[in-house]
Amino acid sequence: MQEAAPPQVNCPTCKRQTVYSRSNAWRPFCSERCRRADLGAWASEQFRLAVPASAEVLDEAGADTPPPSDP
Ligand SMILES: [Zn+2]
Repeated sequence: MQEAAPPQVNCPTCKRQTVYSRSNAWRPFCSERCRRADLGAWASEQFRLAVPASAEVLDEAGADTPPPSDP
């Protein structure tokens, strides 16, 4: 009888099948590169969401400026 094989999972980044076990330090990812790619995407998404607040304030201040009158 064979020993139980370690569970296989699909890497969230590249979708390749990888082993989910102690021998895989990057589980559930297949490699360090894929793990960093996923964390990087998450971090940039957070950064992108934090930006618009100040842009909106600047836009409102500009709209409040009265138009120049020509005599
Ligand atoms: Zn991968």
